[in-house]
Amino acid sequence: MKAICVDQFGPPEVMKLRQVPDLSAGPGQIVVAVKAAGVNPVDTYIREGWYPIKMNLPYTPGFDAAGVVVQTGQGVTGFQPGDRVFVSGSLTGTYAEQVLCTSEQVFRLPEQISFSQGAALGTPYGTACQALLGRAKAQFGQTVLVHGASGGVGIAAVQLAAAAGLTVFATAGTDKGRRLVRQQGARHVLDHHDAGHFEAVKQLTGGRGVDIILEMLANVNLDGDLDALAPHGTVVVIGSRGRIEIDPRKTMSRDLNILGMSLMNADAKQRAVIYGRIQAGLEAGHLHPVIGQELPLEQAPEAHRQVMEAAHYGKIVLIP
Ligand code: NAP
Repeated sequence: MKAICVDQFGPPEVMKLRQVPDLSAGPGQIVVAVKAAGVNPVDTYIREGWYPIKMNLPYTPGFDAAGVVVQTGQGVTGFQPGDRVFVSGSLTGTYAEQVLCTSEQVFRLPEQISFSQGAALGTPYGTACQALLGRAKAQFGQTVLVHGASGGVGIAAVQLAAAAGLTVFATAGTDKGRRLVRQQGARHVLDHHDAGHFEAVKQLTGGRGVDIILEMLANVNLDGDLDALAPHGTVVVIGSRGRIEIDPRKTMSRDLNILGMSLMNADAKQRAVIYGRIQAGLEAGHLHPVIGQELPLEQAPEAHRQVMEAAHYGKIVLIP
């Protein structure tokens, strides 16, 4: 089979398409024929070599994929060859024609969800779900600002929050992105590059602020977020690409919470809850990943360049 291989950490070009041996499933494992692989920002951090998760070289990148089960190992129940599935995490990396997973990393993909959409589920929807429901413990009737809503996690968060009965405020950096997030269920849509957007959130909530902020770029926004939160409000830091100075006094005056989260911290029990919720949302028709770009597997370097550029519009996936 063909797979993207990384022999050394570095720029996108270190990813090379190679012929490698087919995979086979050991006890408790599943081999999936990959029809689409999701590209996440974290794949680029790991490839560059600075991220706390260090892969042993050579490795195949990618955490997310969707495809068809080709082989199940001894003791695997609930899956058989031919099943449509999506994958969140794997033993071998998803930028390949096949991926080897433990049975806990594989989930059924409803018929109405395409393979490309399935490849957009694992990390983005898992993260949005854990941030909104696991960490912020969002409740029906609350308000949430999805700060950076036009990318993979943001669109997932808008859809999940709208489905859970929250009033959604969302930001994007382009007109196209703002139209997209409104279509996904955001009631109020703002531009995160506009310095006045924190004040606009306050005004749109009658001066109160929002109950929850899901923050995709905390190193830019965290101090402003503290102004836009309602009393007892919570900001969940999902993404951050540097340092920021904040005024801690703002948290005291209104009993604010600043929470961090990483999907990688979710244990097996939490993952079962997260992906159970996502499957229920898919089956109910509330969740429908948006695919901005499908690229052939060999264009993984181009996909890594694009995922780190501005002007997001949904998810980038690779097609083997
Ligand atoms: P993505 O698809 O690349 O989208 C990035 C988003 O950030 C876009 O909506 C972009 O909007 C927005 N953005 C750009 N400038 C912004 C600003 N000044 N303020 C607010 N948002 C801004 O990435 P993703 O997959 O959604 O992930 C988002 C972030 O979360 C990344 O940093 C990623 O590494 C991180 N993440 C963390 C976890 C975790 O477990 N904690 C899991 C997944 C992802 P425009 O392009 O429209 O400007």
